[in-house]
Amino acid sequence: MNNRKIEEIICILQKEFPGQKSAPGKADPLDILIATMLSQNTTDKTSYIAFCNIKSEIGSWEEVLKAPPAKLKKAIRVCGLANQKSAAIKGLLKGLEQKHGKLSLNYMNKMTSDEIFDELLEYNGIGVKTISCMLAFSLGRDVFPVDTHVHRVCNRLGIAQASTPLKTFEQMKHLVPEGSKFMFHTLLIKFGRKICRSAAPLCGKCPLYDHCEFPEKEFFAEKTSAEPKENNFIILEHV
Ligand code: SF4
Repeated sequence: MNNRKIEEIICILQKEFPGQKSAPGKADPLDILIATMLSQNTTDKTSYIAFCNIKSEIGSWEEVLKAPPAKLKKAIRVCGLANQKSAAIKGLLKGLEQKHGKLSLNYMNKMTSDEIFDELLEYNGIGVKTISCMLAFSLGRDVFPVDTHVHRVCNRLGIAQASTPLKTFEQMKHLVPEGSKFMFHTLLIKFGRKICRSAAPLCGKCPLYDHCEFPEKEFFAEKTSAEPKENNFIILEHV
């Protein structure tokens, strides 16, 4: 039942966001992983600025590893949680150098997704969402990353019934049709920012209104007066 509903939702969202790619480009997996780490608890625009600052002010990941922590913190300050994020990035780079002798994740192309989860979950500051973004956006794996937007929208629509993004991830990985996971993820991010917003969803302008099981949708439909605003910048599509 949910599978058919998901297919109908994908069709509707493709009309709402025409031109959405069905597969990602071939970005470097370490770049994607670190960009995702930077994007935690902030917007994609500020985390992209932080990512570009690292490249322009410090340089390669080898140079980031050698750089004083204060220099990395300064480069990423714009995206918040600079202490935690810089420590996590340094920890990842140090671990890769110690275990593999070089700063690259290209060896992961030969590993299964489960093996990759097991290895990367050992690092501080890297969770299931971060790894699944890297798998989907860089390694081309058919994985459905769940962040707060995707978690919220899936539960309001009634295609997941879960209290946390991690539980939504576990439920949805068996439901989203094969080959559609990357596209569905990016469509839901854009939809969650533009219409199904966290605090004040624009239910009165929602193309998925008839598919939605959110108990307060009638209340929010009556309150809808703002026009939806596009906010389609996804950092992982630009790294
Ligand atoms: S009707 Fe409202 S709550 Fe439901 S999906 Fe649309 S915007 Fe979100």
